[in-house]
Amino acid sequence: MNTTHCIFCNIITKSIPSYIVYEDDMCIGFLDIAPITKGHTLLVPKVHCSNILDFDLHYSESVMHGLQIVSNAITKALSVEGIQILQNNGSGAGQMVFHIHWHIIPRYADDGLNHWQGKATPHKAELQGIADSIISNL
Ligand SMILES: [Zn+2]
Repeated sequence: MNTTHCIFCNIITKSIPSYIVYEDDMCIGFLDIAPITKGHTLLVPKVHCSNILDFDLHYSESVMHGLQIVSNAITKALSVEGIQILQNNGSGAGQMVFHIHWHIIPRYADDGLNHWQGKATPHKAELQGIADSIISNL
């Protein structure tokens, strides 16, 4: 992909404005302009990777560090009940910008968001078959 057409690459180079709250040599954090809760922040590595399938693992530690720093700052800055970290991979999972990013979502007691509903546990044989299939593809 030509990174000049990637909105997050343009935020990284500051070619377009954003509300940056965190930056180091390898990642950047900025407010989501369509927040699902107050303080919803995105953390993005400063390398163009589409999603977890092609993520440059050289950035892993920096991303985790950034997630922790920004989550702590949000917790201190806002009256949050908790922090939810979300990361979507592929359009089928709701990914809309194809530059890998992590959502840092402050959670509030009355935010109206629901955790996913639990479903019935499949039979042991089905679970084992799924596990075997994944393991054989590692
Ligand atoms: Zn990009």
